[in-house]
Amino acid sequence: MYGYSPKPEGTVIRALRQRGVPKALSVRMVLVAICFLWGSAGAQRTPQPPFWAAVSTITDFEKSENARLAEAQAAIESIPLVRGTRTVDNTLEPFDEAILQLEDARYLAMLVQDAHPTEAFRDSGSVFLQKADRMLDSLSLTRGVYDALLTLDVSKSDPVTQYYVHRRLVMFRLAGVDRSQADRERLQKLRGELVEAQSTFSRNINEDNKSILAKTVDLDGLPQDYIDRHKPDADGGVRITTDGPDYYPVITYAKSDALRRQLLQATNDRAYPKNRDVLLQMMRLRYEIATLLGYPSWADYNAASKMALNASTTSAFIASLDQVARPVARREFEMLLAEKRKSARDAADIRDDEAEYLRERLRRSTFNFDSKLLRSYLPAAAVKQGLIDTASKFFQLTFQQEVGVPAWAPNVETWDVLDKGVMVGRVYLDLQPRPGKYQGAETLPVLSGKIGQELPEAVVVANYATAAAGDPGLMELDDVTELFHEFGHAVHRILSSSRLRWAGTNNRNLEFDFIEVPSQFFEKFPSLPIVLTSFARHYQTHQPIPPDLMAQMNRASTFGRGMYVLDSAALDSLSFELYNRKPGEVDLDVFCSDQLRGHTLLNLPSDIGRRWASFDHLADYSSAFYTYDWDKVIVEDFFNQFSRDNPFTSDVASRYRRTVLEPGGSMSANDLVKNFLGRPQNMQAYQNWLKEEFQDDSGKQGSVALTGSTN
Ligand SMILES: [Zn+2]
Repeated sequence: MYGYSPKPEGTVIRALRQRGVPKALSVRMVLVAICFLWGSAGAQRTPQPPFWAAVSTITDFEKSENARLAEAQAAIESIPLVRGTRTVDNTLEPFDEAILQLEDARYLAMLVQDAHPTEAFRDSGSVFLQKADRMLDSLSLTRGVYDALLTLDVSKSDPVTQYYVHRRLVMFRLAGVDRSQADRERLQKLRGELVEAQSTFSRNINEDNKSILAKTVDLDGLPQDYIDRHKPDADGGVRITTDGPDYYPVITYAKSDALRRQLLQATNDRAYPKNRDVLLQMMRLRYEIATLLGYPSWADYNAASKMALNASTTSAFIASLDQVARPVARREFEMLLAEKRKSARDAADIRDDEAEYLRERLRRSTFNFDSKLLRSYLPAAAVKQGLIDTASKFFQLTFQQEVGVPAWAPNVETWDVLDKGVMVGRVYLDLQPRPGKYQGAETLPVLSGKIGQELPEAVVVANYATAAAGDPGLMELDDVTELFHEFGHAVHRILSSSRLRWAGTNNRNLEFDFIEVPSQFFEKFPSLPIVLTSFARHYQTHQPIPPDLMAQMNRASTFGRGMYVLDSAALDSLSFELYNRKPGEVDLDVFCSDQLRGHTLLNLPSDIGRRWASFDHLADYSSAFYTYDWDKVIVEDFFNQFSRDNPFTSDVASRYRRTVLEPGGSMSANDLVKNFLGRPQNMQAYQNWLKEEFQDDSGKQGSVALTGSTN
């Protein structure tokens, strides 16, 4: 359960695995920003060439990266040199240009590092990612630029420009720009080391692609297409890797306890113990940065730029998650235990490796739902078409595939995005597993977009079973959900990058604990009957998904949310608590084990304390892994405004696009929420979602307020 782990509904799902977020949208609080400006993109006459055309060799890639970094440097250096009155044109324009160039350099480097098939190219990506990060960091401590923005009078400018400058000044101060020269030098050094450590931590996990050897007999219970794809070698051994497409079916369907146990352990053990010194170093560096800036811990400092604002709100939120989920989780646990006792009469606990398997069994026995049957209706090609059709309809956009477009790997798809006939950006889909590729899912905005300069382009990186000769590439519902999730990020990026004046006010400018809202919102769609029936067809008979199967699926999908949220709270807690203290005295294995055991109802193995080593987001999210759950609360509140039967028809959809997505980071996330809901978010809809499986019961739980969420 603490490795890759499928979830009840599509929600936070792969979270427990490696929440695939846009690292794009993650990483550092510095001056990230980006994108777009272009409003009436129609002004562009010549179609923009797809970004990869200009960087398809290492030489071209490095040349392009160097050019972007040099342009950024020149723009930054020009700002303090301005003589006379500071204006938006002579100060904010070059600042915005620097942000755009640095962000573009950064995400292209990240794509190459995470997804290029050749190692030399990936290595070069890492080098430039670190260079761009160092420059962003250096910019965040550049006093001359801060002073320039501070003296820039925007009182008569439009609200977006005012907010942009306000937010950047806050971020500058959080970076430490107004500290002494010695402190700034120290901060810069610490952050440089941190960037390197983060990169090492992630790469150690990505590249430790473990596998185990099983026997064909161990595959009992797995779907036939999986067995067909895993033929034994000459010695009768079947190799199973920790990649998602290999992992999830085993953990869900394999009857062999030993096989599930072994694979879960291999997955959790990635980068163990190799990442130990790297994590300890990240903890030391972050603690020193936070205390140098006057905060008691990294967790407190890291919250200051977010909706949560401080560590005590974060801590209270994690506690409230546990509080609302626990009663539901206990009832689910009893149901799972009863299921287990059908084959093990005296069973008194449920191990982490059997939880998903038992859930699947219970779905079959109690809800008459066999998710293997569902897979037959989810061949990769139909799912992708369903994704495109659903996004077109809901977001009122047109997606057109371009064929023969150069890309970094075979089978990468290129889709043009049009709004009312005008091209507003591109989305790329890189969905096939490859050796050395990032094993989670993420969305990378490789081109920021700026009026008259460039269209935004974003890449979805993920790993799914794919169609091949004689293999339809059947997907799990969780895969489908994850794909919609990432696409939600990509659409948010394109929409928020084509309406605003400043590159730096796209969705990157948002508080980090809001960025999973649009993605988690859209991931709910494939589970809606109106959406699923529109694309799910049996891969052999081409029959639509039977209504009975869908009803059973929906009934079954409500099961397990309480336990899932507890397990999610466990990882939230690990991430938060690890960085909410003075490092040095922490025994990682013991600490990790305690945090996980403090929330879950599952029986965890004695070596569960190693789980930190493969918990990728301790590098990028650091203390803020709670953001998925925080955002899920907002998502349920948002979704409650729509009709579940047909979210497409009302004007709520266009209001959602207009008030939540298009503004990007041009105002605070709390304002986005209020503009859409007419009030701040609360936990009521989330609680209803949690206990939906028991909705026929009368037992009402009191509502828990989500506190401290304003700034
Ligand atoms: Zn995400």
